[in-house]
Amino acid sequence: MSQYWSKVVHKLTPYTPGEQPKMARLIKLNTNENPYPPSPQVLAAIQAAANTDLRLYPDPGSDRLREVIANYHGLQAEQVFVGNSSDEVLAHVFQALLKHEQPLLFPDISYSFYPVYCGLYEIDYRTVALDADYRLNVADYAQPNGGIIFPNPNAPTGCLLGLEQIEHLLQNNRDSVVVIDEAYIDFGGNTAITLINRYPNLLVVQTLSKSRSLAGLRVGFAAGHADLIAGLNRVKNSFNSYPLDRLAAAGAIAAFEDQASFAQNCQAIMATRERLTASLAHLGFEVLPSAANFIFARHPDFDAQQLAQGLRSSGIIVRHFKLPRIDNFLRISIGTDAESRALVSVLEVLVKQD
Ligand SMILES: *Cc1c(COP(=O)(O)O)cnc(C)c1O
Repeated sequence: MSQYWSKVVHKLTPYTPGEQPKMARLIKLNTNENPYPPSPQVLAAIQAAANTDLRLYPDPGSDRLREVIANYHGLQAEQVFVGNSSDEVLAHVFQALLKHEQPLLFPDISYSFYPVYCGLYEIDYRTVALDADYRLNVADYAQPNGGIIFPNPNAPTGCLLGLEQIEHLLQNNRDSVVVIDEAYIDFGGNTAITLINRYPNLLVVQTLSKSRSLAGLRVGFAAGHADLIAGLNRVKNSFNSYPLDRLAAAGAIAAFEDQASFAQNCQAIMATRERLTASLAHLGFEVLPSAANFIFARHPDFDAQQLAQGLRSSGIIVRHFKLPRIDNFLRISIGTDAESRALVSVLEVLVKQD
């Protein structure tokens, strides 16, 4: 605390990201990073962009990248907004589109950055409880609101909502913006980007961090009606004219041009997820159905925090959230098959009942 801080800073409770330990040789299954390397074409594009042009500012609008993303999803470039990570895109979304008289709605169990942005931008919000099975029911959002946001699949549960449900929500909510945060959509879901041309109040946010193995490059984007994108551009251009550097833009463009390695990695992760889910169920865990690159699991007889500590002593890091309703779950990122086997053999010992 300091007397020199602005008033709002005293009230902030910042987001705590999963740790990035400095120790080598750990099996890191705590931040949903992709276990496979990015496409070699991405690395080549970044290396080619590391040239003397770095003395020049990048394109402030990242036009080529926006065109590539628009082509990929069958949109116009003015329906696409890019930013330095989807967290940054989300921050602009909260400020530009979600601050209104009525409260913003999001699930009680959801991405824990949402209430942080509400604190930063002084946005009133109300949480809507997931049901007893940790499912989101769109009917629960039929109430006055200044906007709706949730991840699909949800985080940290991994549960997927079908496009029919999202369309049902959009049909009944026309007067405020609906934001679908699709950080994990490539691991088994269908993107709501296909609904954008029919719903001018729909905004879909995606990231290259998870399914495209580029958490270190920091690139995210939003897709929606050109009027929503224009609002985001106003905020962005009042904050940072050049959010994407030359290397990030070059790498991101190349990522969308290598469909093959992307599809292959997603398939591998989904296959490992199904095998890991079966192995954990065999050990007595309850595993929520996941369409993401992580699973959310609990054991009826063992304390999640103790299991996390036990794993940690064996060099495996998973995420545990000390939060109401979910403090007996572990969120486990899907790694390689070898990492998955290592995880299962440690858990086998930890849950052995004698
Ligand atoms: C990982 C994640 C993000 C942030 O992704 P970045 O682009 O790396 O900032 C946003 N939303 C959800 C739900 C996430 O899990």
